[in-house]
Amino acid sequence: MHEWALAEGVVATAIKVAEREGLREITEIRVKIGELQQTDMEVFEFALKEIVRPQTALLKRAQFIFEPEPAVLKCRVCGTEWAFKDALKKLDEEQSESIHFLPETAHVYVRCPNCHSPDFEVTKGRGVWLESITGEK
Ligand SMILES: [Zn+2]
Repeated sequence: MHEWALAEGVVATAIKVAEREGLREITEIRVKIGELQQTDMEVFEFALKEIVRPQTALLKRAQFIFEPEPAVLKCRVCGTEWAFKDALKKLDEEQSESIHFLPETAHVYVRCPNCHSPDFEVTKGRGVWLESITGEK
């Protein structure tokens, strides 16, 4: 159900932005997909189409564009930032799979490349959100 809530959020935000900007029609909706999100994209896309369907006037021609956002980690101790995919290279398959399904486990396996602290935060690449819309007035 998580996918449906996300899809509803994206469409509701798109409609709000369109109203604020006085758009008659939305032609393009860009959605960022974080590398460390736990969304079933098939379900998400299906949910988007179903939610958009009754919104004929505003969203009839809207195309969804999904843009992946790579995850970035930042050490809370020394401030070093590094790409999640670099961290994955050092892990075996089982470990990287477990992080993919449960990003919280990253703290068990991943260490800061500079000071080796496990205390880091994910600064980019989490979640799914509306990036921008394009439309006609
Ligand atoms: Zn560090």
